[in-house]
Amino acid sequence: MRKIERSASRVNLLGLTFDQLKSEFSQAGLTPLDAKRVFPWIHMKLAKSFDVMTDAPLRVRKILKENYSIDRPECAVLQKSSDGTQKALLKLEDENFIETVLIPEEKRTTVCVSSQIGCAMGCKFCRTGTQKFTRNLTAAEIISQVFFWKDLFPKTITNIVFMGMGEPLLNFENLSNALTLLLSEKAHNFSRHKITVSTSGIVENAIADLAKFGVKLAISLHASDDEKRSSIMPVNRKYPMENVLRAAKEYLQNSNTSHITFEYLLLRGANDSDEDAIQLVKLLRSIKCRVNLILFNNWPGSSFSGSDRNKANNFSRLLLSRGIRAVVRKSRGEDILAACGQLSTEQNRFNSRA
Ligand code: SF4
Repeated sequence: MRKIERSASRVNLLGLTFDQLKSEFSQAGLTPLDAKRVFPWIHMKLAKSFDVMTDAPLRVRKILKENYSIDRPECAVLQKSSDGTQKALLKLEDENFIETVLIPEEKRTTVCVSSQIGCAMGCKFCRTGTQKFTRNLTAAEIISQVFFWKDLFPKTITNIVFMGMGEPLLNFENLSNALTLLLSEKAHNFSRHKITVSTSGIVENAIADLAKFGVKLAISLHASDDEKRSSIMPVNRKYPMENVLRAAKEYLQNSNTSHITFEYLLLRGANDSDEDAIQLVKLLRSIKCRVNLILFNNWPGSSFSGSDRNKANNFSRLLLSRGIRAVVRKSRGEDILAACGQLSTEQNRFNSRA
């Protein structure tokens, strides 16, 4: 059984699956029926206080208040971009900061969730990669990002992507809890087709273990040969492309998903040549996939600059004409530093100066 996360005084219930809630309650003298009443209040009705759980007897509510919390992290900064993208900097109990982003589009509204504080993967193009890895987020901290946006915009969130700060597959246990809650009909009831987990390519069991949830998988590729990929993504030295692509094929078989998404950030002069595109086609030809070509969201101090729109369109055409589905993704929220890790890096820098 998984360890229950406790803060100094009270257990935060947001990250507990129904079975964990029952087990936790049994230790506090509460019954499975109490868990059955409380669970939907937390996840479906988004209760922020135990007082509103009026079908729970007063004695039960007293025990809940004394032993548990359903607190969300405090919002330190909320920014809105001119394109509608919103980014929140959330302050955790231990005073660390994480980021979560809301991306409204014509037919869907996506929440981008962080899984770690900082990141150990050190991708050269990523601002989170410049922050040292501090710790994994708890399951409550992961899912509280969804609560945060749902509290502000009830019934509008359609998709969840694990593409924020951190490598989700290196925090698998807490990711699993969050996915269980997001997918449960008795909790957040998202379709597995509306949830995407993005990885830098952690092959050891993690991709295979994820398959049981049947969610969509996105793999950050960002290069079409090992030498280039290793130079911008150190993880490639441990898990070279051959292993990653094999794991992608196995994921397709085991997860019953229709395709893998490969993320490819277009970096001027580094990975955006015609030869890069043609080599990418060779690699991906035998995999049911889509390629997201991402325009680089520049950040202060970055040693890269993004390819221009014409180059991106040309790269896309080369893939499409050879049978690989590709789309150039619009860069969202540039005016609020919406790409991964940008706002929290600013905040941490500010804190370290203070
Ligand atoms: S791109 Fe993702 S895996 Fe790479 S450093 Fe940034 S947060 Fe970590």
